[in-house]
Amino acid sequence: MLKVGGFTPLSTTDWPDQLAAVVFVQGCPWRCHYCHNPELQPRQEANVPVGLVPDWPHVLHTLARRQGLLDGVVFSGGEPTLDPALPDAMLAVRALGLKVGLHTAGIYPDRLSQVLPHIDWIGFDLKAGFADYEKVTAIPQSGQPALRSLEAVLLARSTGRLAVEVRTTYHPRLHPGDTLPELARQLAAAGLDSWVLQTFRPACDGHASWAADASAVSHRLLDRIKAQGLSVTVR
Ligand code: SF4
Repeated sequence: MLKVGGFTPLSTTDWPDQLAAVVFVQGCPWRCHYCHNPELQPRQEANVPVGLVPDWPHVLHTLARRQGLLDGVVFSGGEPTLDPALPDAMLAVRALGLKVGLHTAGIYPDRLSQVLPHIDWIGFDLKAGFADYEKVTAIPQSGQPALRSLEAVLLARSTGRLAVEVRTTYHPRLHPGDTLPELARQLAAAGLDSWVLQTFRPACDGHASWAADASAVSHRLLDRIKAQGLSVTVR
């Protein structure tokens, strides 16, 4: 059974232009400096309720009662593809007549490929240049699975059956120098036409030093990124 770590019955911000419920799934093996859901990094040993969070059967029951009010359900986390129950959960959502969205960092490319046929939209969290992932995730070699996952996502997108938003949280310490223009060049070469850059927002007091030198993407940097042929949205 899917290990639910949180549930938002209605969101207008987690899936562009859609009214969506958000199911937060427990567990993530990465340790990103700016993680906003660190309480979801561990997984409970058994199907232990997390505070007042409903379990999956309750979530599904709530979703069934909201048919007609929602466009879809986004699975978020944590890293939802970590959960072996994710494919069945997605099929259960589809059976209710709802669309399926996924937030992923692409940590598990094989599991991601397994669920791609069930997904209408993906928000792909691209951390950094693929050789620089460890700076963000604190996990060696973490860029390799992310690259494989992004390739699978872009292949599915090219068939026209999957909508994709690739987004990156910008911080000058994590993306120095030519990192973003070079990444933009790679994304454009892979067929992507748009990219969302999110400004770093500290998630807790422990991020004070990161917050101190955080900055928005400069106009000059933005121009260099756009020169690679991508349309860029800054949030
Ligand atoms: S991949 Fe996402 S959930 Fe996992 S540590 Fe990074 S920001 Fe947090």
